[in-house]
Amino acid sequence: MLNLHNVVQWSRSNGPGTRYVIWVQGCPRSCPGCWNPESLPFVEGQRVSVDALYAQITRSRGIDGVTFSGGEPFSQSGELAELARRLKARGLSIVTFTGYTIEQLREAGNPDWDALLSHIDLLIDGVYIEGQQTDAPLKGSANQRLHYLTGVITPEEVNALPRSFDVTIGSDGLTTVTGFPPADLAKRLALRGVTL
Ligand code: SF4
Repeated sequence: MLNLHNVVQWSRSNGPGTRYVIWVQGCPRSCPGCWNPESLPFVEGQRVSVDALYAQITRSRGIDGVTFSGGEPFSQSGELAELARRLKARGLSIVTFTGYTIEQLREAGNPDWDALLSHIDLLIDGVYIEGQQTDAPLKGSANQRLHYLTGVITPEEVNALPRSFDVTIGSDGLTTVTGFPPADLAKRLALRGVTL
């Protein structure tokens, strides 16, 4: 079973095209300034089987791919590798954000990490470092690197992406902000009477 923090069915700011985004629950690090601190503890989140999540994703119309984020996706690599394998067979691309470097992932000799890596089209690696903020596409801080592992996603299409974020209002009224919002977003929305 996967243990998720959240999902968003349609996002335009977590990789090229329109993407289904999955945030897993739990990360072994605690980087100062992490944008998603609620996803860090290894606590019970939304439990879902690979079969059920695959069915949910493939019912979503008009998506180009799926993005794994967190939390730390490689902490649930066995299940995500199986999910990614099935999604790739449907022609969906896979983007993954990780706090590990690609060298750490490749040198670990962990079969689940190797399996997940083998299905990823674009890997964004490295921890977020506060004080190294950047406006580069899909990076939180300048140390992070984009690895185009298959050629399915190209640097040209990523470099053409606008720096953007999504605001999703769920049926329960809860607001989710994803992508790369400006640091003072909460303050700016509060001025317009919107709270996050
Ligand atoms: S690795 Fe990523 S998710 Fe984990 S604490 Fe650091 S910034 Fe947050």
